[in-house]
Amino acid sequence: LKRVVSGVQPTGSIHLGNYFGAIKNWVALQNTYDTLFFIVDLHAITLPYDVQQLSKATKSTAAIYLACGVDPSKASVFVQSHVRAHVELMWLLSSTTPIGWLNKMIQFKEKSRKAGDEEVGVALLTYPVLMASDILLYQSDLVPVGEDQKQHLELTRDLAERVPEPLIPPAGARIMSLTDGLSKMSKSAPSDQSRINILDSKELIANKIKRCKTDSFPGMEFDNPERPECNNLLSIYQLISGKTKEEVVQECQSMNWGTFKALLADALIDHLHPIQVRYEEIMSDSGYLDEVLADGAKTATEIADATLHNVYQAMGFCRRQ
Ligand code: ATP
Ligand code: MG
Repeated sequence: LKRVVSGVQPTGSIHLGNYFGAIKNWVALQNTYDTLFFIVDLHAITLPYDVQQLSKATKSTAAIYLACGVDPSKASVFVQSHVRAHVELMWLLSSTTPIGWLNKMIQFKEKSRKAGDEEVGVALLTYPVLMASDILLYQSDLVPVGEDQKQHLELTRDLAERVPEPLIPPAGARIMSLTDGLSKMSKSAPSDQSRINILDSKELIANKIKRCKTDSFPGMEFDNPERPECNNLLSIYQLISGKTKEEVVQECQSMNWGTFKALLADALIDHLHPIQVRYEEIMSDSGYLDEVLADGAKTATEIADATLHNVYQAMGFCRRQ
């Protein structure tokens, strides 16, 4: 059975980009592959973060996975830091990773630039090596991620003898910000107005869509480079409604912004409501969630420790007797 691994950082509110770029696709994969989905808390400390919130955000992210349909009877769901091998393999791999490769990573350039004059930690630079470890520990064949992670996957492929393939969805790989159609929707973007979070209330969704950036062209259209916001919102509508592009064009091309926004807001609210209800149920039973995460960590540790053992052997370390 081919193996699939992927994760989301517990760095903030999970949004539509995470959902369409990653989590929703995991749900489809868990039936046919050996799947491991983890909450990448070790990645979450690469930028300044709130120590008081990390644990809570980690559990909340796990609950969102389950609420979106990840099924722990099919997939191993666990917290990255519960499996020590991730950090250990990262050290071993970092010895063969050229610094030049890391300096070229777009995410590092962007995030370190945004962090401003304040010094960024070494871990922001070495983040892709930890990500390579996440993938190689499980000898993964496929890694479902959004388009922004493609470069990191390529680095993993360059580092490894065995080559995992990125699995980037044809649609949804790059959901853009609501306030700027040219930048990606991100948890770490300072303005919450820039994204729809999976747990946003009805009122908040309606308000964010009402206020999101528009243009003064007539009608609605896909793929006009002068209308990135229009393309993004139509794409979101297409994904959330499950309709084809042609159906969306037919339905929306002659709408004005006001009519289209009302349609989109309703579709988002309807789609997210059942997820939110399940999320509340899962969060209200912390014993269940803890059990899922403990089981997941156990399965993951067995696989990861075996790989780590082989890597130590291959690198010539003295074996403990
Ligand atoms: P941060 O800003 O803290 O980096 P993020 O929003 O980029 O947060 P991550 O936890 O880094 O979220 O990424 C989790 C997964 O979601 C990855 O597979 C990533 O490719 C995907 N993803 C993130 N943003 C988008 C987006 N706007 N569109 C599609 N996929 C996305
Ligand atoms: Mg990111």
